[in-house]
Amino acid sequence: SIGKISLDQIEMLSTKSYPLCMRQLHRALRESHHLRHGGRMQYGLFLKGIGLTLDQALQFWRSEFVKGKVDADKFDKAYAYSIRHMFGKEGKRTDYTPYSCMKVILSNPPSQGDHHGCPFRHTDPELLKQKLQSYKVSPSAISQILELVKGMHYQLACQKYFELTHNIDDSGFSLNHPNQYFVESQKFLG
Ligand code: SF4
Repeated sequence: SIGKISLDQIEMLSTKSYPLCMRQLHRALRESHHLRHGGRMQYGLFLKGIGLTLDQALQFWRSEFVKGKVDADKFDKAYAYSIRHMFGKEGKRTDYTPYSCMKVILSNPPSQGDHHGCPFRHTDPELLKQKLQSYKVSPSAISQILELVKGMHYQLACQKYFELTHNIDDSGFSLNHPNQYFVESQKFLG
């Protein structure tokens, strides 16, 4: 964790310091006011990792879900438990740790309607290209990223994206975790 985060910073952080996997989950949550289980786990644990407290997490998820089809009562009955669970406050009280890149890349691939996973691994390259274009990544940089994706070097592709979006030649770290991406980004921007 990198210190205190307030909930109204999350939108800004999602565009400046989130890796693509989390940016995609955040967008989907904001747009549909819902995420399926796989997405809630991947994004929820990431948020815990960047320093959200349990109370903040409950507030964050509740405020999005109630804008959709879930009212506060249903949220408290159906979803609050799993969030407390993530923080080790229910069930076996395991303190779950955020997923590493390898875990995201190798397990539980997303199906239709899911937004979890690693975009470099699980998004069709043509769609990935369009997404990068919409994020104003230059054509030559997109080619470099797609080359790495083609060679199945997903984390290197992600690291290249980090370098481009932070305007540096060499990130100086070896990416293996979405939370590491966030922390490194905050060092540059924070
Ligand atoms: Fe997320 Fe890791 Fe994939 Fe980057 S390489 S998008 S941090 S899972």
